[in-house]
Amino acid sequence: MQKIIFLKYGELSTKKENRNFFLKILNNNIKKTLSNVEIKYDYGRMFIIPDNNNYEEVIDKLKNIFGILEIVEAHILEDRTLDSIKENIINILNKKEFKTFKVEVKRSDKSYPLNSMELCKTLGGHILKNIKDIKVDVKNPDITVNVEIRLNEVLIYFDGIKGRGGYPVSSLGKGLLMLSGGIDSPVAGYLAIKRGIKLEAIYFESPPHTSEYALNKVKTLAKALALYNNSEIRLHIINFTQIQEEIYKNIPHEYMITIMRRMMYRISAIVASRVKAKIIVNGESIGQVASQTLTSMSVINEVVRMPVIRPLATYDKLEIIDLAKQIGTYETSILPYEDCCTIFVPPHPVINPSKEKCLEYEKLINYEEMIYEAVKTRKIITISSKEDDEFKDLL
Ligand code: ATP
Ligand code: MG
Repeated sequence: MQKIIFLKYGELSTKKENRNFFLKILNNNIKKTLSNVEIKYDYGRMFIIPDNNNYEEVIDKLKNIFGILEIVEAHILEDRTLDSIKENIINILNKKEFKTFKVEVKRSDKSYPLNSMELCKTLGGHILKNIKDIKVDVKNPDITVNVEIRLNEVLIYFDGIKGRGGYPVSSLGKGLLMLSGGIDSPVAGYLAIKRGIKLEAIYFESPPHTSEYALNKVKTLAKALALYNNSEIRLHIINFTQIQEEIYKNIPHEYMITIMRRMMYRISAIVASRVKAKIIVNGESIGQVASQTLTSMSVINEVVRMPVIRPLATYDKLEIIDLAKQIGTYETSILPYEDCCTIFVPPHPVINPSKEKCLEYEKLINYEEMIYEAVKTRKIITISSKEDDEFKDLL
């Protein structure tokens, strides 16, 4: 018996006027990730036919594509007669374990001789007669047998596999993720991608205070994110050494972190506009550290006009950890490393920084020139989720 995969879109289907726009992007995204499938449409539904009959592999990949609520594997019967439906349903159900079931029938071909109610009853009775020790349960069945009568064929299917939901990547434009080696920023990136934002990432390193190992860790995290970001992500690597050393030498230590983060924001905003990203995304979470009090966040945020989206702003650390495990970044994030923030971290960072003091202290360093130099000399690499990268071995 032939099989076919179809998708349920969930949230997308509520976006009436933009539906086609979203679907077109979803279609392109699927093609980018799956080169070996044919995509067809019928009654607004997207059907996916694997070239090589490798349903499992295709479904596994579809599970990581945003914009899909459910992935359903259906059996197709070209013979639409009642006898054929009956016979095939029993063959299929014989391979399944269940105690309770219900039948649901949909007719997109209204001219079919039996109506939905009649079909439901007949097929339900037939199943009860032919399979032992099972019962009908319309409220909470182990399985729902869906039968869909279409113009040229009949589909039989069960509950689908959950997709990741969200919007297709790129449908809402581009963002720049501030990606560190910690737990939070990859999760923040994942949540942004889920909202249809295609990400590029920026990482600040301070060699020789930070190592090649720390960079490899970030590359490994970027690769994990690439899986959701249409299989690739561009990473901008900023050399932050000079700026950090200047801050360290010239600025009162309690303000070091605040000013360092203001510099990171300034650089991120310039890089974002160069790559046509409309927003900055980061892993800040309210109250987590001194630089994430409301006062700190507002004093830091003030140096950029571009919106800064913080998907984790209201998350607890444990919720973040759960998500990190689920998306496959946790194990990498917890490897030990030295972050550019942690090496220069002062014993008592200010919790309520003042904007005036920041401006005053920033006059002590010639930051504008350094910022443009850092942007100009940045390294840009593209990381693919598909290739085996050598940096993984270096961790
Ligand atoms: P964790 O708390 O798990 O270490 P974190 O690195 O996210 O995670 P912070 O150091 O407080 O925590 O940084 C807050 C945010 O600033 C990060 O989530 C990240 O978006 C950004 N950030 C911090 N350091 C860097 C860096 N070296 N390069 C790029 N972005 C960074
Ligand atoms: Mg960190």
